[in-house]
Formats: sequence, structure tokens, C-alpha cells
Amino acid sequence: MKKLLLGVLICNPLLLLSQRTILHCGKLIDVKKGQVLNEYSIVIEGNTITDVQAGYSKPAGTDKVIDLKNKTVLPGLIDCHVHMEHETSPTRYMETFTYNPADYAFQSVVYAERTLMTGFTTVRDLGGSGVNISLRNAINKKLIKGPRIYTAGKSIATTGGHADPTNGYRNDLMGDPGPAAGVANGADECRKAVRQRYKDGADLIKITASGGVLSVAKSGENPQFTEDEIKAIVETARDYGFKVAAHCHGAEAMKRAVRAGVNSIEHGTLMDDEVMQLMKQYGTYYVPTITAGKAVGDSAKKPGYYPALVTPKALAIGPKIQSTFGKAYKAGVKIAFGTDAGVYAHGRNWLEFVYMTEAGMPPMETIQSATVTAAGLIGVADKIGSIEKGRLADVIAVDGDPVKDIQAMGRVSFVMKDGVVYK
Ligand SMILES: [Zn+2]
Repeated sequence: MKKLLLGVLICNPLLLLSQRTILHCGKLIDVKKGQVLNEYSIVIEGNTITDVQAGYSKPAGTDKVIDLKNKTVLPGLIDCHVHMEHETSPTRYMETFTYNPADYAFQSVVYAERTLMTGFTTVRDLGGSGVNISLRNAINKKLIKGPRIYTAGKSIATTGGHADPTNGYRNDLMGDPGPAAGVANGADECRKAVRQRYKDGADLIKITASGGVLSVAKSGENPQFTEDEIKAIVETARDYGFKVAAHCHGAEAMKRAVRAGVNSIEHGTLMDDEVMQLMKQYGTYYVPTITAGKAVGDSAKKPGYYPALVTPKALAIGPKIQSTFGKAYKAGVKIAFGTDAGVYAHGRNWLEFVYMTEAGMPPMETIQSATVTAAGLIGVADKIGSIEKGRLADVIAVDGDPVKDIQAMGRVSFVMKDGVVYK
């Protein structure tokens, strides 16, 4: 049988070659050099980019050509902070009591497809109920359409902390959720919580190192882990190959998290100069989520949209993120693109590009933060985040030139993920 198969392959060399796809790109963004190239071709075989050539390469044999001559082509976008399971609404807090996991699962399918179709071919899901792990698996199996997902599963908090799932409940419902449910106190429980995430099938760890806006709890910024607890999390995470993302609004929480060795600070709202210096010293990434900050500030102005304890936090913290981002950018902190989608409506992730440019980051650098830099944070820069030989074929195109007009990021008209054309 083996001999027969070998014979067939030798007699038919075409069988050895899979069909190639050639993208003719009017403009192509080289995110590594920060340049826009004119008239280039990308050659794709299976799910891999096998060549990038100057000019419009001629097809041979069974090659398929896709004409993107009047578009700007760039690597698939990466959002380092989303929540695929849910989306903001005035009834969101009630859903905790009325939704079954299947309800979250079905709606996450819709959000995942919407995210992919707007050009985001990869996301980090920074916290849900665990349905986000099943969502990742279903997308990887190609049962449903969605971005490549790196998921934290359930976030880790301390008792009463930002991601304690029973905050604000009445006493008999509160209970005492433990490390399995992502609530850990003391170094041992923190290690156990990380190991549970490994067992659950998560890809990384998310902790809520300070208070947050949308939890039904008083402080939006207080430190909620000791430095020793965060160190225990980071050390254990390294044993399992996990990166650690730390939600922080307050400066003290950020200092503890950075010194303990987390990979990214999420939101970073009340970041001071000392935090920025520490982040540069430790090489910590900043994931701003300006879009979510603006959205919660706007929603909080609608009476009754959030619980009474949440509204003042949303008004005070949300609108500050954009100016913090501007300062951190000028200070030279590494910025990885992230929006906190779900806290605002999925599919509008591209607005972050506009807000980043408004705060002083040039358009090319915003695109780099959502591609090559984001891939570096996730630890997959050898696979995605740039268009070059050997990378996975995650490629998108927009109408117009986003380097001249950043609004073009909202006009994604071609999406390829893993070599498959979705749009
Ligand atoms: Zn978040």
C-alpha cells in the first residue's frame, strides 16, 4: 500500500503541491519596518505564507489569485483584551441569575463571528465563566467562525475582589467561592487557582490586582492582592507556560504587579510616573482599553444603566484612560492593543485605533501595536502578527489607506484567517 501511494505521488508531481493562493496587494503594510509597500504579492499554501514578492506575481497551474489591488493589506489584527461571552446591556447584571452556560455559549458564537469579520483574527479572552474555553475549541475545530482565541478561562481575584463572581449578592447566595471558581487568598490558594486554570484548559492567567469599575463593590482602584500573592501566581504560571495579565486601575496595585513580574497591565488608569518607569524597567506591556473606558463613562450617564455602586466609578475612571495612554506612550511604555470588547458592543474594536491616534500615537504605530507588538505579548510573534514567509496566513485588507486616514480601520473588506477566506 505504501509503495503504491509513493508511486502515485512520483508519477503525479501536482499531487505533491497544494493549491497556492496569491494575493495581489495594491498597498501592503510591513509592520516590522513601519512602511507601506506598493504593488506586492503574498503567496499562501495551506495555512502558511510561503513568500512575499515585489510586483504582481503571475499565477501558474492551479494557483488562485485574489485581487486586492485597490486596497491596503495588513496582518490580521490582534485584540489583547476582550470578553467573548457577553456584551454590555442594562440587563447584564440580571443575566447572572437567569443565564445558563448554554445561553452564554450561543451568544458568544455571534460575538466571535462579528469580531472576526471586522478584521480581528486573534484575541485574548481575559475572563469569563469558562465557556470561553469551549468557544476557543469550537473555533479551532472549525465548527464555528471566529478569531484565534487565547483564553484566560475564569479570572483570578481575592475575596470580594473585582472578579469574585458573587460580589453584591445577598448573604445566602454569596457563599465562599474558592480557587476553583477563581477566588484565592494567600500564596497557596493562588498557586491552586493557577493550576486549576491549567486543568481547565486555559492559555494564560488573568488576575484582578485592583478594584474595577463594573463589579458591585465600592473601590475601583484599591490593591486587592499582596505582592507575595501575585509572585506566587507569576511563579506558578511560569511552570505551566502561562503569561499573566493584570487588571489594574490604581497605582499601588500596578507597582506590586509589575515588581511581581506580570506580563501586562490592563487599563492602567491611574498610572503615575513611577509605574511607567517600573514598566519600562521590567519590560511590562500596557494594554489600554480606551474604548471601554469611554463606553462605560457614556453608559453611566443613562439613569439605571448600572447598579448605584458602579455608576460613580464608571464616571470617574472610564474617561481617564485616553489621557493615561497618551502619557504612557510619550514615556516610552510598550503598548499592546486591547479594547475590553464586551464591556462595549463587540465589533467596534477598531475605534481604539482612532482613540489612540487622538491621544498622540501615529497611525502606523497603532497598527504595529495591534499586530507585531500584540503577538509579542501573547508570545506568538513567530507565528502571527506580520506578513512574512513562514507566518500563518492571517491577512486582512481595508478600503483606503489607514496610515493617512485611520478611519479606514473601520472599513475591513477582506479577512483571511489560517489561510481560509472569511470575507
Ligand atoms: Zn476586561
